[in-house]
Amino acid sequence: MKITFYGAAGEVTGSQHLIETDTLRVLLDCGLFQGHRAESRAKNEQFLCHPKELSGVILSHAHADHCGNLPGLYKAGYRGEIFCTPATADVAEIMLTDSAHIQQEDAKYLQLKLGPGHPPVEPLYDDDDVAGVVRSFRTIPYGEWHELSKDFRMRFSDAGHILGSAITEMEICEKGDWKRVVFTGDLGRRGIPLLQDPQRVAGCDVLITESTYGNRVHPKADDIKQHLKRILTRAITRGSRVVIPAFSLGRTQTLTYFLNELHNAGELPNIPVFVDSPLSKEITSVYRHHSNAMDAEFQQVLQSDKDPFAFPGLKYIGSQQESMQLNYRRGAFVVIAASGMCEAGRVVHHLRHAISDPKNVVVIIGFQAENTLGRKLVDKWRTVRIFDHLVELNCEVESLQGLSAHADSEDFHWWFEGLAADRGVGRAFVVHGEPDQAKALANMLHEFSDEPATVPQRGESFEL
Ligand SMILES: [Zn+2]
Repeated sequence: MKITFYGAAGEVTGSQHLIETDTLRVLLDCGLFQGHRAESRAKNEQFLCHPKELSGVILSHAHADHCGNLPGLYKAGYRGEIFCTPATADVAEIMLTDSAHIQQEDAKYLQLKLGPGHPPVEPLYDDDDVAGVVRSFRTIPYGEWHELSKDFRMRFSDAGHILGSAITEMEICEKGDWKRVVFTGDLGRRGIPLLQDPQRVAGCDVLITESTYGNRVHPKADDIKQHLKRILTRAITRGSRVVIPAFSLGRTQTLTYFLNELHNAGELPNIPVFVDSPLSKEITSVYRHHSNAMDAEFQQVLQSDKDPFAFPGLKYIGSQQESMQLNYRRGAFVVIAASGMCEAGRVVHHLRHAISDPKNVVVIIGFQAENTLGRKLVDKWRTVRIFDHLVELNCEVESLQGLSAHADSEDFHWWFEGLAADRGVGRAFVVHGEPDQAKALANMLHEFSDEPATVPQRGESFEL
C-alpha cells in the first residue's frame, strides 16, 4: 500500500490524500487550496492524483477545504462514486453550488481587470460540474461498513466537527494481509452545542490525523448565552445596531440556537434579529432535516420546541433588496451575516454602515486570521478600509470565545488514548496544520506509538 499526500500537507487547506493498493486508487477528500489567488489557482487546477484513474473518493465533511475541489476533479474526468454521510451530501451540494457561483464571479472580475485583449478567463468549475458531483454522491450512514471491493471496506464514525462530519476507518487487504487505516478528517470537540462528541474508534496500523490546533488548548467557553443577553439588553436601551459576522455553515446555526434557547427561557430581550444570508438559510434547512444527528440536549429541546432555529422576532433574509433595506433601518436590531472573518459577503456592507457610530456593536466570534478585516476590528484599528473607503471604527467590538469546532490538544490526547487502548496507534501521519501545530501533535503521538510520527510534505509518498 502506498499513501501520497497531495494537499493539507504542512498547511490547512486543500485536503487530498491518495491511498494506492495493488488493485485500487482511493482519494481521501478533494479540498480547495485557499490563500493567495494566483498560487491557489495553480494548485487547484492541477491534479497530481490522475483523476481518471481513481477507483473511488471518500469525503470526510462539507467544508470547502475538504470538498471544495470535487467539481474540479469531475471536470478533470473523474466519474466514479464519492462516498460520504447523508448529511455531508446535502450540505456539500449547497456549499459547492455557492462555490461555483463564486468561481464564476471571480472569473468575470479577473476578465474585467485583465482587459478586452486578454483570452477568456475560465472559472475553476461551473454548475454542470457541481451537478456531476452531486450525482456521484453515494451516501453511507455512520456505523455501516461498506465494501469498495472485497479487499477494501470502510466505515464512518461521527467526528463531531460539523453536521455530517466523519472519521473514516478503512480495512485494506493486500496479499492476504489486512491493515487498518484511520483518517480523522477534521476532529471536533467534546461538549460543544448541537453536535455529538467525536466518536472514539479502535486502533489502527496507519493513522492520518489533522492537527489544526495540535499545540493549543482552547479557552474555556464563555457563557455565550449570558454574554449575548447582556449585549442585546444594552443595545435596546441605546438603540444600537448589533452586527455579528458568522460563517454560514455551523456558526450561524449555533448562534440562532443560543438565541432560541434564551427565547424559550423568557430571557431574550425584545429585539428584531435578522439572519442575512441565503446560504445560511439553506444550510439551516439541512440542519432541521438532519435533526436526529444532533446531541441529546438538542433532542430534549425538540420535545417542546419543533424548530430550535426559529423564534418570534427572527427573520431569515434572502433577497439583496431586503438586505440593503437593513442599512436604513432605525432603532435597535441584530444582523447575523457571513463571512465569519468579514472578508466577503453581506456582512461587509453591514459593517460599513455600522462601525463609525459609537452606539453600535460588532460581535466577533472565534479566530480571526491575520490581515482580515475581522482581525483589524478585534485589534481596534482607528480606521479600516472597506470597499476602497476609509471608515472610522468608533463602535464597540465584543469578542466571544469558545465556539471553535476543532479539537484542541486535550481533545486529541483523549481521542488518541481511545486508539491506543484498543490495538494501538501504529504509524501516524500528521496533516492539516501549520508546521508548529503539526510538529506538536507529532510529539504528542510519541506517547502512544513506538513509531515516530511523520509530518509529510506535499507530494510525498510512503510505502506501508
Ligand atoms: Zn472542517
